[in-house]
Formats: sequence, structure tokens, C-alpha cells
Amino acid sequence: MIEITNLKKSFGKHEVLKDVSLKIKKGEVVTIIGPSGSGKTTFLRCINFLEKADDGKLTIGDISVDLKKTKKKEILNVRRKTAFVFQNYGLFSHKTAIQNVMEGLVVVKKIPRDEAKRIGENVLDWVGLLDKKDYYPSQLSGGQQQRVGIARAVALDPEVILFDEPTSALDPELVGETLDVIKKVAKKGITMVVVTHEMAFAEEVSNKVIFMDGGKVVEEGTPKEIFMRPKEERTKEFLSRFI
Ligand code: ADP
Repeated sequence: MIEITNLKKSFGKHEVLKDVSLKIKKGEVVTIIGPSGSGKTTFLRCINFLEKADDGKLTIGDISVDLKKTKKKEILNVRRKTAFVFQNYGLFSHKTAIQNVMEGLVVVKKIPRDEAKRIGENVLDWVGLLDKKDYYPSQLSGGQQQRVGIARAVALDPEVILFDEPTSALDPELVGETLDVIKKVAKKGITMVVVTHEMAFAEEVSNKVIFMDGGKVVEEGTPKEIFMRPKEERTKEFLSRFI
């Protein structure tokens, strides 16, 4: 369903992603864990062309692109199949919750406004925020803003949702409600890639866990394999910090 092969990315002389490959099946929830600076966010951003990779190949559904020389049209096609949930929510501050959710439906998917509104209200209801639909981001808590961000991604009905550390900007007491909504998205059977520092969440929700360090995938496996029986010393050392 999604395959990334030999992805490479440098910022100047700093080689951030050395040679990352990953296969994701339809409906799978893949979490990416690893130390700060290991390239997790950059990897996720390269999948959605928020960063331009230097080399590699990306296949998403029926589209296959060479990341070294991607054409504009291919970028748009890939973006249409993906949705991104940002660490800092990425909402338009001058738009209400419902307007934020509707934006991509109207502008990207060309869905008529009244239908987009109906879809948007349904999804906001699903994340428990229908009563806040006319609130602006500044009138919502961080957890509520992130739930709008998740609603916006789900409303697009993409082939994959990419979550970039979706709870790391939240006050600790708001993390739980946001993780609960992400678990609900996982239960819907949507393919997801989640960069996270929440190990208990990764263990509970993932079909596959990827441990990255130094711009490489060091180890990947089921949550049991990675959290209970990690093979690599670097994985063991990283996980020991969370006990
Ligand atoms: P992680 O998500 O694992 O914490 P990142 O992908 O955010 O790691 O960052 C990996 C490395 O790339 C870090 O050393 C970071 O400083 C560097 N980096 C990320 N984005 C940029 C950028 N836009 N310009 C220069 N360096 C960057």
C-alpha cells in the first residue's frame, strides 16, 4: 500500500536520513520511535513533500514517484492521498473549527460547501467537538485544537494519515484525551504513521513499531518484539530510559 525505498535527506552537510526503507500495509498503524534528532519528523515530512527528499522512491497506492525528481503534479497526487496532523496543530487561526475542517474538503477535494459542512460536522461530532464548531482555535484548549486537527485529517478520507508527534505540544493532562481520539482513528482501520514519544500508546495501538536512530531504521517489529524482546543494543538502551 505504501512503500518507501532508500530515502535519503541531508540539510547542508548534515545527513539526516541515511537510507530509510519502510513498507506499510493497508489499515496498518505504524509508530516511529527513537531519540530526538534521529530524523523521525523529517522522514514523515518527506513522505508528504513538506520536505524534499534527496533520493529514494515512494509508492502510495497506484502512484510511484522518484523522490529525486518529483514533478509538481505527482506531488499534488501524493498529497491528495495523505493527510498530516502537526505537532502544533497547524490550524488557521482566523477560521473556526468547522471552517478549518471544511477548508481541505472545499479547496482540495472540490466538495460543495453544504456537503463539506455536513461531513465536517459529522467528523467534529465524532471527535466530541460538535458544540465547539464555531469556536476559533484561540478559544479552544490545546487538546481540543489537536482534535480539530485530527478531524480535519479524517474528514479528507485519505489513504494514510501522518501524525507528527501529535501530543508533544500538549500539557500532560490533555495528552490522554488526544491519544484516545487517535486510538479511535486507528480502530476505524485508517492506515496511519505516527511519530511519537508515548511508548505505552505505541505499544497499545501499533501493528508495527519502527525504532530509528542516527537517520536509520535500527530495528522494526511488532510491539511485542520491540518492547518486550528488542534485539539491538541501541533499542534496549533507548527503551530503558522509559522504565
Ligand atoms: P526527530 O523527529 O527524530 O527529533 P528531526 O527529523 O526533527 O528528528 O531532525 C533530525 C535532524 O535534522 C536534527 O539534527 C535537526 O536539527 C535537523 N533538521 C531538521 N529540520 C531541519 C531543517 N529544516 N534545516 C536544518 N536542519 C534540520
